Amino acid sequence: MIEITLLGTGSPIPDPNRAGPSTLVRADGQLFLVDCGRGVLQRAAAIDVGANGLTALLLTHLHSDHIADLGDVLITRWVTTFGPDPAALPIIGPPGTSDVVEATLTAFGHDIGYRLAHHADLTAPPAVEVGEHTEGVVWDRGGVAIRVAPTDHRPVAPTIGFRIESGGAAVVLAGDTVPCDSLDELARDADALVHTVLRKDIVELLPQQRIKDICDYHSSVQEAAATATRAGVRTLILTHYVPGIAPGQEEQWRALAAAEFDGRIELGDDLHRVEIAPRS
Ligand SMILES: [Zn+2]
Ligand SMILES: [Zn+2]
Repeated sequence: MIEITLLGTGSPIPDPNRAGPSTLVRADGQLFLVDCGRGVLQRAAAIDVGANGLTALLLTHLHSDHIADLGDVLITRWVTTFGPDPAALPIIGPPGTSDVVEATLTAFGHDIGYRLAHHADLTAPPAVEVGEHTEGVVWDRGGVAIRVAPTDHRPVAPTIGFRIESGGAAVVLAGDTVPCDSLDELARDADALVHTVLRKDIVELLPQQRIKDICDYHSSVQEAAATATRAGVRTLILTHYVPGIAPGQEEQWRALAAAEFDGRIELGDDLHRVEIAPRS
């Protein structure tokens, strides 16, 4: 079984009730953090997951809302890992990820220096192991295999989706993307597809052109649902709601997805959890 927790279901606009985009996937005892938006570690703390418990960090793309708390993840993992010779945190993302990780560690360079000077048992800066990929198998350890493929979030490029397989179940995380063949292929017959969504019917009515611009590189609820249908996915999990789902509006969002997809549809608030059993 694979367990999916929507740690943060928000968007770039701060929301008092929704953290930034971030999803936790638990598979065969391994914990994968997919994107690390604003407030991710606070949400993870609510389910007793700490930065030091993460197996790997997976990044779909390098938009600020998806990496806002990268520094917090790196530094907090470092200062809360107490054993000697801490293992490097694997970070898997698209090309550009190394630059972002290096720059983040540079930004926290003073902090890292203070702590190295202060704590005798901290002897090295945060250890990371960055892999940049756009397709293929990126992980095969302890019963969990992960494959990536390109998505289409242009002009943000390259961007990737992840397919995590364990114990006969497959979960795909699309990130931000418009419908595209490579995502359809990545999601083919998956047990679950976690897809970010935007209500074009609402966003298109807003007065600011800069806000309207975002419609052209995200999937609407209906488009995400149509992707799930084309790919033969069993469960569609919606997240990264733009705008945030207003209280009492969940069924309206669900109905938009249901018009294009017959399977199980999951959506909700931060910490919404979905268990995915293998297809039997
Ligand atoms: Zn994005
Ligand atoms: Zn986003």
